Amino acid sequence: MDLETLMARLCGAPGRADSLLHLEVMPPREARQSTWPEWVAAPVREAFERLGVPAPWTHQRTAADLAHAGQHTVVSTGTSSGKSLCYLMPGLEAIETSRGPKGQRGASVLYLAPTKALAQDQLAGLRRLELPGLRFSTHDGDSTPELREWARDHAEYVLTNPDMLHHSLLPGHSRWSRFFGSLRYVVIDECHHYRGVFGAHVALIIRRLRRVAALHGAHPTFVLASATVAEPEVSAARLTGLDVASVTEDGSPKGRTALALWEPPFVPGRGENGAPVRRSATSEVADLLTDLVVDRVRTLAFVRSRRGAETVALTARRLLGEVDASLVDQVAAYRGGHLLEERRELEESLRSGRLLGLAATNALELGIDISGLDAVLLAGFPGTRAALWQQVGRAGRGARDALGVMVARDDPLDTYLVNHPEALLGRPVEANVFDPDNPYVLGPHLCAAAAESPLTVADLPLFGPGARTAVDALTEGGLLRRRPHGWFWTDRRRASELADIRSSGGTPVQLVESDTGRVLGTVDYSSAHGTVHAGAVYLHQGETWLVTELDLDESVAVVVPADPGYSTSAREITDIEILDERAATRWGEARLSLGNVRVTHQVVSFLKRAVPSGEVIGEEPLDLPERLLQTTAVWWTLPDHVLAESVLAAVDLPGAAHAAEHASIGLLPLFATCDRWDIGGVSTALHADTGRLTVFVHDGHPGGAGFAERGFHAAAAWLRATREAIASCGCAEGCPSCVQSPKCGNQNHPLDKSGAIVLLDLLLEGAP
Ligand SMILES: [Zn+2]
Ligand SMILES: [Zn+2]
Repeated sequence: MDLETLMARLCGAPGRADSLLHLEVMPPREARQSTWPEWVAAPVREAFERLGVPAPWTHQRTAADLAHAGQHTVVSTGTSSGKSLCYLMPGLEAIETSRGPKGQRGASVLYLAPTKALAQDQLAGLRRLELPGLRFSTHDGDSTPELREWARDHAEYVLTNPDMLHHSLLPGHSRWSRFFGSLRYVVIDECHHYRGVFGAHVALIIRRLRRVAALHGAHPTFVLASATVAEPEVSAARLTGLDVASVTEDGSPKGRTALALWEPPFVPGRGENGAPVRRSATSEVADLLTDLVVDRVRTLAFVRSRRGAETVALTARRLLGEVDASLVDQVAAYRGGHLLEERRELEESLRSGRLLGLAATNALELGIDISGLDAVLLAGFPGTRAALWQQVGRAGRGARDALGVMVARDDPLDTYLVNHPEALLGRPVEANVFDPDNPYVLGPHLCAAAAESPLTVADLPLFGPGARTAVDALTEGGLLRRRPHGWFWTDRRRASELADIRSSGGTPVQLVESDTGRVLGTVDYSSAHGTVHAGAVYLHQGETWLVTELDLDESVAVVVPADPGYSTSAREITDIEILDERAATRWGEARLSLGNVRVTHQVVSFLKRAVPSGEVIGEEPLDLPERLLQTTAVWWTLPDHVLAESVLAAVDLPGAAHAAEHASIGLLPLFATCDRWDIGGVSTALHADTGRLTVFVHDGHPGGAGFAERGFHAAAAWLRATREAIASCGCAEGCPSCVQSPKCGNQNHPLDKSGAIVLLDLLLEGAP
């Protein structure tokens, strides 16, 4: 079925007349084929030819040539554009042509993936090449001691992840000296996943890797692969600390791709403060999935939670049963909890057409080995533009049409996006953001580096401008000891244990299952009070849990599996103090600043909301201590006389500022690769430190994660988008799609939607 017919059928169903806000049909892209570089060894070329790669596409050739010439390179192109060939050509060539006369290991390659599943997929890809004599291995938490030993002594191509590099390979580098000493290439795959505090950790692990390789005499070339983001060479340079060239012109062929932007209708009933409510994205996706399956269109639906994925599959099966009983078993849910074999079986069923519809969680985006579908449904914006195109890219086979439908959830960013397709279609404005200079992240990695080999003055520039101050503070604190030859780690602990790279400052809280004592995972210190307080309903890897107790002394939250039919949201009191202003700019009478702030939070109660209506069904008080957060914020102020001359009455100002704050938090993820939960805000009609009406948006992690900084630098575009998001929402007085926030500490009160537009207009009057 062609795109036009398909869309006509989807939109023709009753009640859907106004749902399709935009349909963008992107023309097919012609293949641009290049030739094999002369430097590629014949066995490598032949291995790819056997797998049906007659020659590289232009972007593959360009990137491979750059890397082969020793230029650090990032390739940033779409899903299924064959990014792996870019690093496999130079990497395998180096290995094949440098072996000793008896086949001894010559050059080595280190491959880093953000997840174990992706490294396993890459391993399978290397196996398919059937290159005689190529010695490769994964090195992850599942590897046996024998396999690790073999990898260390023999492997030429080692596939691992930043966690293993941090905890195992770097601390044990002397045992891996031959591997590190011959390291020719480091591949950093899916590097757009390294963002926020995690990105800062990985950036410092990469610096430690560069130092360790240099200690053993190697200066490897870095090849990075990224989804399409703004300025990939900038984030790649930040990640590695090196000059990186970018390759962004995709030479691979593609059929027509359509992206439909879909907004569910308002439904009867009222939400918080009487706001109108839209139909949930999950229900809408279940309906669309049903229709597509009826039309025999192979479809993958991405949903936020595991529960949501199951609901989508169950609902679609029930609806299909009413149409054609034979279709019921052609829809399934795909879960993280499935065994690998079960998952591969589901993937195979979808590939072969035995299965027509599959619902999966966003968390599985990287673990799914499926492409070549007909359609992809997204229940909500998956958080980043890179992830959106990654998911839509699962559809499309050769010259066949591909359809992606993004169904908006009830929040300001989704609303903005379905009303402003150019934000998803034009040049990307979303940059991959993190801050390797964050002192809270830097300190533990300097300790780890000192444990790997004493730090010298000459080492410090590698770790950024704050390294000397940090080293002095660590010495003062007794963690490092200064000797004539440098700084030594003399503590008995393993230095790498100081940094929990998947967490972000403070002791993370462990989630412990009540019945079994099993540790399910951890929650960041910074968000623990708000998300795993006693009575909280917590979503962990797509599963729903009820917290029965939060023990702050032990940093443990006890949970039981439960599905109480409501969600919870914490209420907190927040205060903010400016410590210093690092940068500022004037927009006419307005002033925009970036600086360090101290935020005081106290969670005081939580609300229960019915699922999926969102209706508030109860509030319970909590007794939790105050917490302090020192971090980075961007803020803007307007002087009183400007406000006095405006149509805003003094009494409207708090609500107007509060609404502008909420919407701007909702829109920042469009410019910085953060989640709206990674940032917070404070607004006031009069702030003690500025003496003016002030709206703050701050990073949620100690020391900052780079999000507020990105907001400061992209402020004009960001705040214009914020104004547009509020103005284009169809509600009268504010709703979750524009100015209401699910994480508001003040019950979304006061909020003044039209006042926020006036305020933002005043602010933007003098903006560039
Ligand atoms: Zn609204
Ligand atoms: Zn609020």
